[in-house]
Amino acid sequence: MYKVSKDQCIYSMNAKQETVLKVSTGSTVEFETYDCFENQITDHTQSIDNLDWSRINPATGPLYVEGAEEGDTLKIEILKIDVGEKGVMGAIPGVGVMGDKVENPEMKIVPIKDNKVIFNDDIHLPLEPMIGVIGVAPKHEDISCGTPGHHGGNMDNKKIREGATLYLPIFTEGALLSIGDLHAVMGDGEVMVSGVEVCGRVQVKVEVIKGISIENPLLEDKENIYTIASDEDLFTATKMATEDMQKIVMKQLNISFNEAGMLLSAAGNVEICQIVDPLLTVRFAMPKKIINKLY
Ligand code: CA
Ligand code: ZN
Repeated sequence: MYKVSKDQCIYSMNAKQETVLKVSTGSTVEFETYDCFENQITDHTQSIDNLDWSRINPATGPLYVEGAEEGDTLKIEILKIDVGEKGVMGAIPGVGVMGDKVENPEMKIVPIKDNKVIFNDDIHLPLEPMIGVIGVAPKHEDISCGTPGHHGGNMDNKKIREGATLYLPIFTEGALLSIGDLHAVMGDGEVMVSGVEVCGRVQVKVEVIKGISIENPLLEDKENIYTIASDEDLFTATKMATEDMQKIVMKQLNISFNEAGMLLSAAGNVEICQIVDPLLTVRFAMPKKIINKLY
């Protein structure tokens, strides 16, 4: 299996990044990743003022997938996620949903043991590893790894986990896939701006799909298919994800615009991925019992 070290990381996604590895379509690759603070926080007493903020949200890569061209789709099967032995969380003034009420910054080290996230002596959470940042190079822009968008990026979508398959639009030759920002567990919304931030390793199988063009990330797992959209405005992101799903439902079930809309209204779920990053991310979930093809 191919491996990419965490030290081969980038802080923004763009088409000019030097690639760290070239693989053929169908390859399996392991990405080793830093946590979103690039492993700078090792102790809860550490002041966030001493952090090197230029090293926030590193993503490992980018990986060049041979044969990938603009207009194709990159299929990424998440085969395995292993996380480190401790996670980091933070309360930071001015950041997140309650940031205006946080008076003192505080960091918290969260041990991970026996598939449990030890939040404190009394509260243990089940380990549910997920990928915060996963994206390809956008066509023209240089997008910080902290921002989500059409190219994927910092979607902080807890459904991007082991067993799920993500589809990203390809904007540039080689696609240039990068992965980082694992969470040992995270709630929808990521309200305090951090999940249980953790370093780790992700195994993915990458495949170029020719003849299929998508505009935004798509996802599937055992239960659902999902459209994913990000915007500064939560309603706009919701509308984008909903309209993308409606198009898929119309096409796959061969039903009218109105019928598809009513079906979405009856059986689909609007879910918030995160509301704390520069753009907010929403997913629209449709059960596979009703529709099981994304394209
Ligand atoms: Ca994140
Ligand atoms: Zn994170």
